[in-house]
Amino acid sequence: MELTGLTGKEIIKYCVDCGEKPFRGSQIINRVYKQNAASWDEMTELPKGFRESISQVIDFHAPEIVEKRTSPDKAVKYLLRLRDGETIETVLLPYAHRVSLCVSTQVGCPCNCAFCATGAGGFVRNLSAGEIVSQVLTVQRDSGLRISHIVFMGMGEGLLNYDNLLKAVSILNEDVGIAMRRITISTVGVVPEIYKLAKEKLQLNLALSLHAPTDEIRRKIIPFARKHTIAEIAEACNHYTTTTGRRLTVEYLLLAGINDSDFCAHELAKLVKKLFATVNIIPYNPVPGKPFKRPERERIFRFKGVVSSYGVEVVQRMERGSKVAGACGQLRGQSKNGRRKN
Ligand code: SF4
Repeated sequence: MELTGLTGKEIIKYCVDCGEKPFRGSQIINRVYKQNAASWDEMTELPKGFRESISQVIDFHAPEIVEKRTSPDKAVKYLLRLRDGETIETVLLPYAHRVSLCVSTQVGCPCNCAFCATGAGGFVRNLSAGEIVSQVLTVQRDSGLRISHIVFMGMGEGLLNYDNLLKAVSILNEDVGIAMRRITISTVGVVPEIYKLAKEKLQLNLALSLHAPTDEIRRKIIPFARKHTIAEIAEACNHYTTTTGRRLTVEYLLLAGINDSDFCAHELAKLVKKLFATVNIIPYNPVPGKPFKRPERERIFRFKGVVSSYGVEVVQRMERGSKVAGACGQLRGQSKNGRRKN
């Protein structure tokens, strides 16, 4: 058992089952989830004997910060080492009125998107709920900041690690205190899990990494897209927004000469117009070794103009952290290869 993978209710139940009073559980919850304690040894308010016995059964291991890079725009990219030696990335994005954290859900990723450094490294394993929650606690402790928003857009396809992701969401919401409406799950379109998520009737935000308006183009850049057509994904997303009332975000990575034509802009707008959604345009940040380029400024402007001419809400994501191996998986890849760029 991992401490950061247990809900507050489970911690209290464990304490009571051990013959302790429920307030012992509340003390642990407060120290780990509110005050960012990093080990059992720090919880000196617990009787020594109980601390020793509980630490034999419930593992409390904070990930080690292997590397930390801060970009001029104050984004901080963390490389964290887990108990088994695997590494993951987590990115802190402080804004004027909120503090966001981009969190990983898997070590590596099975989706193998052609433009992504994480996908290129292959899939290693799912993260446990505790390892997902630990990213938030570790960054809070290190930065001294309180995370207000979570985006599951780090390494991995979260919906392929559904149970652990949902358990982590529950802990982050109920025990760490981050509102559901401030948590976003990103997916390339795992249709059955989108329906499953809708059934939970949570106020979670859903972001669809669409990146192409036709199946033909999409399958070239996202191998996982062979599993579900865009029409099937759109139907599932429509069901999600209707059931939850939450607006969908359609993420669209603009790749020069691949998906940035006027034709693509028209097709994208026609598709999104049928959804309760906002389009988020993300001009590509080149990843070393990948054959993709960022479109020229005029092309980006033109693409946005065509999409918004349909009355579709379009925003361009603020690009942050690109000076610190900003693309997901890059820092881990550099670390594995033993290279250091800065
Ligand atoms: S872009 Fe996301 S889904 Fe695609 S390979 Fe990278 S981490 Fe996986």
